[in-house]
Amino acid sequence: MEQLFAVQEVDARLRELRHRLANLAETSGAKSLAEDLRLLQLSRNRMKASMESLGKRRDELEDRSRILMGKVKNIKAKEMSGAISHRDIATTEAEISHLETQRSELEDAEFEVLSEIEHLEPQLLDLESRIAERDIELSKLNGQNLDITNGVNGEITEMDGKRIALVGGIDAALLKIYDDIYARVDSLAVAKVENGNCQGCRLKLSSVEIENVRRTLSGDFSRPPTCEQCGRILYL
Ligand SMILES: [Zn+2]
Repeated sequence: MEQLFAVQEVDARLRELRHRLANLAETSGAKSLAEDLRLLQLSRNRMKASMESLGKRRDELEDRSRILMGKVKNIKAKEMSGAISHRDIATTEAEISHLETQRSELEDAEFEVLSEIEHLEPQLLDLESRIAERDIELSKLNGQNLDITNGVNGEITEMDGKRIALVGGIDAALLKIYDDIYARVDSLAVAKVENGNCQGCRLKLSSVEIENVRRTLSGDFSRPPTCEQCGRILYL
């Protein structure tokens, strides 16, 4: 029974260590930091995509403006060379003025696109610097967590060895009962009786029941005394 208690202590410690490892990302803040970083990267990528399409729009407006300018230049050259008859000059002037209006509209649109780009640029820079900051923070945290994980894994290995050594000295049938209960209750399998209560489930035991537990424990039992309600092995 005493050795079984020692096993239970080892199991409790192992459970605690495994729990610590399983929750390390959360408790250390690495999980929320990584999520934070992911959202920032998402915003950054979206903003980059907007900047890219704005850049394309600006290039397209510039091209169209250049084509219009070329047209105006050609017409003016024709006019200068005298290739346009007097009769057609008014029409030509109207055409030039129409083209120039169009070009000025394009320039307005381009100006708008450029101001939008200028507006986004500092925001993008800000996002980039926040991402870089969090990146450094996260790798630092991950490094610390790796150290912790290595330490905990070392202790787990040690505890596993300790358990194997302890289990060697325990009756196989008793150990099987313990393991079955442990797997079923998913916590400590041996419960102490304190103030007449099973510490596993808080069931109140009668004095007769407690006396039976005492008698079984003091004898050479084949089955350990167990709690009627939760099935844990009882210990006084
Ligand atoms: Zn119980």
